[in-house]
Amino acid sequence: MKIVHAAGELYPYVKTGGLADAVAALSATLADRGHDVSVFVPAYRAALDHKELARAERRLGLRVEMGDRSFAGDVRVLPVKKGLTVYFIGREEFFDRRFPYGNGDRNYDDNDARFVFFCKAVVEVMRIAEIRADVVHCHDWQAALLPLLVRYEERRSGIALAMKTVFTIHNIAFQGVFPMRSFALTNLPDELLNIDGLEYYGQINLMKGGILFADRVTTVSPRYAREILLPEFGCGLEGVVGTRADDLVGLVNGIDTRVWNPAKDRLLPAKYAVHDLTGKPMCRAALLKKYGMDEAFKGPVFGMICRLTEQKGLDLLLAAKDFFVQQDCRLIVLGTGEKRYESALRELAQAQPKKIAFSLRHDEEMSHWIEAGADFFLMPSHFEPCGLNQMYSQAYGTVPVVTRVGGFIDTVTDIDEHPEDGTGITFAPTAAEFVQALQRALQLHGQPEPMLAVIKRGMTRDFSWQKAAAAYEQLYHQTI
Ligand code: ADP
Repeated sequence: MKIVHAAGELYPYVKTGGLADAVAALSATLADRGHDVSVFVPAYRAALDHKELARAERRLGLRVEMGDRSFAGDVRVLPVKKGLTVYFIGREEFFDRRFPYGNGDRNYDDNDARFVFFCKAVVEVMRIAEIRADVVHCHDWQAALLPLLVRYEERRSGIALAMKTVFTIHNIAFQGVFPMRSFALTNLPDELLNIDGLEYYGQINLMKGGILFADRVTTVSPRYAREILLPEFGCGLEGVVGTRADDLVGLVNGIDTRVWNPAKDRLLPAKYAVHDLTGKPMCRAALLKKYGMDEAFKGPVFGMICRLTEQKGLDLLLAAKDFFVQQDCRLIVLGTGEKRYESALRELAQAQPKKIAFSLRHDEEMSHWIEAGADFFLMPSHFEPCGLNQMYSQAYGTVPVVTRVGGFIDTVTDIDEHPEDGTGITFAPTAAEFVQALQRALQLHGQPEPMLAVIKRGMTRDFSWQKAAAAYEQLYHQTI
């Protein structure tokens, strides 16, 4: 099949979260399975600076109409490997920025123009390069206009661009909502500006367009597919999702085992595997040393890596601070995000430098060190479409402590509820339950044999993208 992916981020060129990992691994795995895959992503500063971009061929001369103005752009074409080409859509004014969507506290004011431009440029490149796709697969709000734009361009030009479109919701909390006047940038007909189109409480909502107009809608776990039909998780789009309930399917992401495999991980101070775990305590000691903590410490080490936002349950972590202060344990947190959480974590770490560490940065290498060096990985999220770190943790022999929501339910089984095959500790997202879960972790850590059994079960679970990509392949076939 000829498959086009479009997304706002793509590992390793630019990443703010799991979207980048998912699109990279899915597209690469589909290429390995013999498909012809093109991926479109904006040419942000980080992408342009990436060493691989030196190999890209620069093609100029892209023009995109937005409203009554015409905008120039360019495209860099990177042949990554057999069957996989990445197209970087460039326009300095829009994408030559350090961060993809905003500067931490605020989204950029021109995100409407930036991503309308991106989607229109994808259509334009498909037309010019004569990419006739079997499936155009768009991810999240940044690419959500594509199902509509593809059809309108086909109607305008008389050229067939795509047989079918698929839209994947990676996180329904981010919808791309803009003032009504932004609609003019799309050059789509006014008839779409109503409740059955992009209109959303007097504004426009790009994700709504993706949900309504793609041939199939998917999300990143079966549980989240059910949750987003409910007001509690649908973030205002539950009614819109409901209209597509028959076309909605939840497929769990895999993990990229070329990047996340403790037996081959070159970023780690020591490698290890389920049949030989000797490298794991070495990673633990190296991690503790890195943070100025006693390498010989025997108690449990808790790790946490995430965007510092409300979603990730930072309120629950901070509410449990007495646990970390009073118990004989260590806590290492890596993340960036909202200032209120950054300063609270900084204060906590400064008050307890021997027990609690906080790194305020994005650091791929350190994320591997924490996954390998911690005994338990904390994910107290209030909602979680799929989540990746709970899968990385199991692969790395680090026991996940996760809330009973979304993708966690599909990927972590509780050790008390399933004594035979449990791989983690699960709890309802409340402060009291979180502390209880931490207590259970302490107890488990005090029992080396059961702890080892849980570790080994996690490490032998199959979270590979082969399984996930096969499910997408089947979905594409069904849709066509
Ligand atoms: P989300 O997409 O909601 O942010 P996921 O769990 O699906 O959450 O994916 C997050 C990914 O980003 C994980 O691979 C995680 O390790 C990584 N990540 C988040 N923050 C950082 C950071 N500060 N440094 C390194 N990696 C990070």
